[in-house]
Amino acid sequence: WAKAAGRGRYAVYDPERSARDLARAALVAGLPAALERGEFVLHYQPIVSLLEGRMLAVEALVRWQHPELGLIGPDRFIGLAEETGLIVGLGEWVLRTACRDAERWWREFPDARLVVSVNLAARQADDPAIVDTVADVLATTGLPAELLQLELTESAVMGSAGEPLRSLHRLAALGIRLAVDDFGTGYSNLAYLRRLPIHCLKLAGPFVEGIRADGTDVAADHRDERIVDALVRLAHALELWVTAEAVETGVQAERLRALRCDTGQGRYFGAPAPAEVITARLRGGAAG
Ligand code: C2E
Ligand code: MG
Ligand code: MG
Ligand code: MG
Repeated sequence: WAKAAGRGRYAVYDPERSARDLARAALVAGLPAALERGEFVLHYQPIVSLLEGRMLAVEALVRWQHPELGLIGPDRFIGLAEETGLIVGLGEWVLRTACRDAERWWREFPDARLVVSVNLAARQADDPAIVDTVADVLATTGLPAELLQLELTESAVMGSAGEPLRSLHRLAALGIRLAVDDFGTGYSNLAYLRRLPIHCLKLAGPFVEGIRADGTDVAADHRDERIVDALVRLAHALELWVTAEAVETGVQAERLRALRCDTGQGRYFGAPAPAEVITARLRGGAAG
């Protein structure tokens, strides 16, 4: 059959590739049962004020506690879940669990006013039912709407019809916050920023990585720093918050603060960790 693949072209058997396809198929097949068996877990990563060092929010990041393979990161299964449609069920589980945890933090530490930030896949955002789902989750968990933030990538914001999503206005009307994730890496049709009720831009990791540990820029002309500088100015001109992702060193945090970036997230401020770690940090007080 190899020859039939195309006249004069031969499909070459590649054992490595078929092993990968098999592993992938096995993961896909296992996803629905994993959701039923409760094998998904949420880790939370602090989002910290660069001025005061206070933890203002946490991002919910899903992991799969696989019985044989151990803890699997989202980069290995979120794409598969999107392709197969399971993302809708998984995403709703993530939203409900994150809001339930956040409501507990709010009740136990009301002064912290900790926001929980939940990633929304393009396919979830594109589904008009998302507004009712979010409203229902807020109502059943009792989490105040202003303590929930939803993160969408630029392509998710634009939706499958190539138009900025209408449901974003209805979501914002619930009183929740909306953030653009990985800002600066998508198609960046900036027109949406004029019209949409966005509250926060999350600057993509690569711009932050461009600022080296010794404070110099990877590019000798400080191009990444200048881009961060310009994006922060753009965000502030539009009265948006800026979160820098993937902050790994104190020097990077200091440079980002000097560039007037509002908040930072990354290993320097704390790796993604189980909910109990966040609870302990809140208990530790304002310094946390
Ligand atoms: P993201 O939303 O941009 O999340 C930030 C990623 O950066 C996380 O990877 C986080 O662990 C990682 N990170 C944290 N600190 C550092 C650091 O200091 N340096 C660097 N280079 N990276 C750092 P993670 O947890 O593997 O998640 C990867 C992506 O998977 C997320 O990117 C998000 O797009 C997606 N994802 C995670 N959870 C969910 C979810 O519940 N729903 C959906 N739809 N997508 C999710
Ligand atoms: Mg995110
Ligand atoms: Mg991101
Ligand atoms: Mg990402």
